[in-house]
Amino acid sequence: MAIDFTLTPELEDLRTKVRGFLDEVVVPTEKTLDPDDRDAYLTSLLGMRKAAFEAGLWCPHMPEEWGGMGLSHVEMAMVQAEAAKTYYGPWVLNCQAPDEGNMHTLLHWATPEQAEKYLRPLCDGKAWSCFAMTEPEVAGSDPTLIQTRAYQDGDEWVINGHKWFISNAHRANFAILIARTEDDPDLPQAANSAFLVDIPSEGWTEVRQVETMHGSTGHSEILIEDLRVHNDQMLGGRGEGHLLGQSRLGPARLAHCMRWIAQAETALDMMVDRSLNRFSHGSILAEKQGVQWMIADSAMELYQAKLMVLHAAYKIDRGDDFKSEVSMAKHFVANSLNRIIDRAIQVHGALGYSTDTPLAGMFQHARWARFADGADEIHQMRIAQRTIAAYKDFGTTKAATGDLPI
Ligand SMILES: Cc1cc2nc3c(=O)[nH]c(=O)nc-3n(C[C@H](O)[C@H](O)[C@H](O)COP(=O)(O)OP(=O)(O)OC[C@H]3O[C@@H](n4cnc5c(N)ncnc54)[C@H](O)[C@@H]3O)c2cc1C
Repeated sequence: MAIDFTLTPELEDLRTKVRGFLDEVVVPTEKTLDPDDRDAYLTSLLGMRKAAFEAGLWCPHMPEEWGGMGLSHVEMAMVQAEAAKTYYGPWVLNCQAPDEGNMHTLLHWATPEQAEKYLRPLCDGKAWSCFAMTEPEVAGSDPTLIQTRAYQDGDEWVINGHKWFISNAHRANFAILIARTEDDPDLPQAANSAFLVDIPSEGWTEVRQVETMHGSTGHSEILIEDLRVHNDQMLGGRGEGHLLGQSRLGPARLAHCMRWIAQAETALDMMVDRSLNRFSHGSILAEKQGVQWMIADSAMELYQAKLMVLHAAYKIDRGDDFKSEVSMAKHFVANSLNRIIDRAIQVHGALGYSTDTPLAGMFQHARWARFADGADEIHQMRIAQRTIAAYKDFGTTKAATGDLPI
């Protein structure tokens, strides 16, 4: 048996190095950031990126030939779970959503010419990207309903449609756009194709950045009117848009989970710290059973979250089917994150509700985790379907619970 959770000395060094970099560079710089002083703000942000690059902490998820560190998904879990303890950490290391998922997608689906034009600048930190799939008019949970349409006109595709919640679109240099190209596909999932769209382009209009419960932070509504792209701009083959989306979302969802673990751990640390320093009814909060239960539940959930993420990452690295494990991890970690931050706020009382601690902001950000990149109920539907199928096929549900050797 080769189940071993100890890190190699090289990986332990890397984790220590990431943590040290965050403590020495990112945390102090974040404290001085003032978005109103635009020039100083940008100089600080770019300075952190330059420092990460010089420290050899750049694009950890990309192969070395693309300027990255060539880490596996299990190795990435260590880096993301450290980096996301700070707000800008993942961005500073150039492994932030949605660029990170788009880099993986381009690495696996782009032609050499497309990769050179779109992937290279992303890896070099010289471009931004977005992934445009969700539409206001139809349920994003069911991509077979996508209404954005593309038809062929000579050596071009003409695209019309409407997208929203497109993260990063306001500053992206290009989009991976999903549109319906097939009227009568063999499978409903084979109706869509993916296109690479340069931004700005005639026919691509940003209507607004949608105002959300955590502000107007770059999730745009886009109108697409007679947008023309050359045949060469199709990413993958005709009708492969759904497949591409799914293969992108697996690792991208897990990368979210790695970052959420960092946030959940921060919340639990804060919960315990507060409970050790607040006195009420004759003892500190840490000695109250009601508070201990909140701490215990959070510790158990965080432990489960880490194991699920590591196991799903291990399956991706081995080339095994990872769909169920990523679905279960995404659902579980997203919900644990919300519960753990909520408990941390509870233990902080009014202070937790204030913006004097990061908890309120973390809670607002955490809420979208339960429906973006696959709503809870969609993951539950798929997990149940696979569990029932496993029972029908093998007379046991074992294969659907991680296919572990116990
Ligand atoms: C902060 C943020 C960033 C985002 N970034 C992007 C992006 O960059 N690109 C992009 O394309 N999209 C993005 N999205 C959109 C996101 O992927 C969608 O919100 C998600 O896919 C759900 O689609 P929807 O909002 O249309 O909800 P719907 O599909 O309308 O679903 C609403 C709810 O209905 C329920 N439901 C739906 N179907 C079922 C079912 N079959 N069974 C049971 N219950 C069901 C669920 O509770 C679900 O939450 C982002 C969203 C947010 C909030």
